[in-house]
Amino acid sequence: MRFEGKSALVTGAAGGIGQVLVAMLRAEGAKVAVSDRDSSAIEADAHIDGNLLDPAFCDALPGKVAEALGGLDIICNNAGVITRGDITETSDDDYNLTMGVNVQAPFQICRAAIPLMAEAGGGAIVNTSSCWGLRPGSNHPLYVMSKAAIASLTQCLGRDHAHQGIRVNAVCPNEVNTPMLRTGFAMRGYDPDKAVDELNKTVPIGHIAEPEEIADVILFLASDASRYMCGALVEVNGGKPVT
Ligand code: NAD
Repeated sequence: MRFEGKSALVTGAAGGIGQVLVAMLRAEGAKVAVSDRDSSAIEADAHIDGNLLDPAFCDALPGKVAEALGGLDIICNNAGVITRGDITETSDDDYNLTMGVNVQAPFQICRAAIPLMAEAGGGAIVNTSSCWGLRPGSNHPLYVMSKAAIASLTQCLGRDHAHQGIRVNAVCPNEVNTPMLRTGFAMRGYDPDKAVDELNKTVPIGHIAEPEEIADVILFLASDASRYMCGALVEVNGGKPVT
């Protein structure tokens, strides 16, 4: 029960990693506020839904969580979108969507949360970047730059707010078996099960990550076991780094 007495916010809570993360945090004693476009199917201690592209929603979200749960100790900025295609195939709308959800929303949520956490004596923020935020994969420049930006923000905040007892770190997964990955295969005309089977063969440990394997690392970064880690970018890749 590492999170007994702790209050947490999880964004993207209705997604593949988000759902598992919420269940695992609650199983270890945390009170969890969930946020997504529609999180009504997710069991949680508070539901604060909205569109992360709405700046006013993001600015208000940490305060609403603190009010609903009586505090805010942990934030998992997990929501994300992926935009595929090279730069010539990428529209301004794609840019605004991807940078809005993957960068601006966590930027605003961190900015609003840090004073609350500082006043309470500290906290832990875990952002979700990607191994593509560390080294680019091909033909996804917008997603890659958004994940590099959240990685960089994590390093900056990890350094700037450690003195307030606020630890900011990021998890950087390679492929994870979630709707984000599977719908991408379906959109390109592949059977998602067959495509995942093929992808599994490319990972030295034998399979792409299941959401639990990423959530376990997020829980570690949110817990006191990582109490000396500030601004770390933790790659979780089953032995398959992007080169
Ligand atoms: P997912 O698509 O299953 O879940 C993402 C969630 O974010 C969804 O529930 C979605 O509704 C929510 N969301 C998106 N835009 C939103 C908006 N405007 N307002 C509110 N909520 C919004 O994806 P996932 O695989 O669980 O991804 C979780 C995180 O992990 C993302 O940041 C993603 O970039 C990252 N990641 C995923 C993979 C992978 O292979 N699946 C790899 C590396 C990193």
